Amino acid sequence: MPTESTFFLAGLFLLLAAAGWALGRFGERDAEEGAPPPLNIDYLKGLNFLLNEQTDQALEHFLKMVRVDDRTIETHFALGSLFRRRGEIDRAIRIHQNIIARPDLAAEQRDQALFSLAKDYLRAGLLDRAEKLFVRLSQGSRYQVEALEQLCRIYEQEHEWQKAIDAGQKLEVLSGRSLELEIAHYYCELAEQAAASKDYTAARAFVKKAQSGRPRTHRGALTRAEIARDTDDTKTALRLYHRIIDENTYLITEALPQLVKTYSKEGSTAELERSLDALLKKNPGLTTDIAYTAIVNDISGISVIDACVEEYLLKEPTLAEFVDLQSMGEHDEARRAAAIAKVRSALSKLAKATPRYQCKECGFSSQRLLWQCPSCKDWETQRPHSRVQFDSLLQRSSDTRP
Ligand SMILES: [Zn+2]
Repeated sequence: MPTESTFFLAGLFLLLAAAGWALGRFGERDAEEGAPPPLNIDYLKGLNFLLNEQTDQALEHFLKMVRVDDRTIETHFALGSLFRRRGEIDRAIRIHQNIIARPDLAAEQRDQALFSLAKDYLRAGLLDRAEKLFVRLSQGSRYQVEALEQLCRIYEQEHEWQKAIDAGQKLEVLSGRSLELEIAHYYCELAEQAAASKDYTAARAFVKKAQSGRPRTHRGALTRAEIARDTDDTKTALRLYHRIIDENTYLITEALPQLVKTYSKEGSTAELERSLDALLKKNPGLTTDIAYTAIVNDISGISVIDACVEEYLLKEPTLAEFVDLQSMGEHDEARRAAAIAKVRSALSKLAKATPRYQCKECGFSSQRLLWQCPSCKDWETQRPHSRVQFDSLLQRSSDTRP
């Protein structure tokens, strides 16, 4: 089947014929008055290749016939961008390289061709080549801002966080737009990398940079708490995990399991009970978040948390369709506790099999907390589900009903 680009190329050949290109070059046509001008051999060959759907060969003949000059350059750009849009990247690259090869190209047209070629490389996954061109364009061209934006994307993909910071800072100056959030995350990435290789001094310094002069991010606090935990600085770790929860942030799903682990290791869960008790008095709405976090992470044996789970199970209207926990144990506390444990264990399995986080911008779901959404590439847009996905539970149940 001929592709859209083959038709486009065929259209260009027809236009060439109409404009007289096929009949020799401009200015040479009327050399011998009265005699018909000779047919351009490249034109005929190109047309023949098109008829046989040999697009590459037809393209070569087009490039041979129609040199890049002020009259034809826009056609070359249009053809290149059409090939890229169609995913025919090799052809797009060929066209843009052909433009760049013209020795007397104006600076602005050269930049446009370099920018187009960089986008071809990006699309082809040739990140190194794309990076080189974007770096060149970022150093002084009308594509500076776009080139820096693309460089940030490439460095994010390559996990080259220091380069991403440098490009981001230049972009802030040139565009006048704040990249505080992105740059804070780049520093946190560096901190996590350093912590992974046990260079905790560097890790702490990177967190400091993530926070300095920028609004305090929750990720910074969480990363700093993890460093403290890994270096046995229990006091700092507890203070930061408490701060995250006290501020009622969505990161309770990450911080609460760590608090439970740390207090259990220290043998001081009574202290955790007291602080959670006080927190719930201040903010009763946290019951659901605590219960959900406990169910997903199999946290039990802390009475305040167990009470949140029980309250959550009794209040959840969808659950009542399956099991009447209220009346089940009215006269038998042991039976009621056993029923709750059973429901809780079933919910835990369900919660682990369904996504726990979802991007509030594009809806992308994942099991693990991801700081950058892999789909829309925005930072810090994922939020935890605060309840087990009963919709999917109901769906499965109705699927198995006769
Ligand atoms: Zn997203």
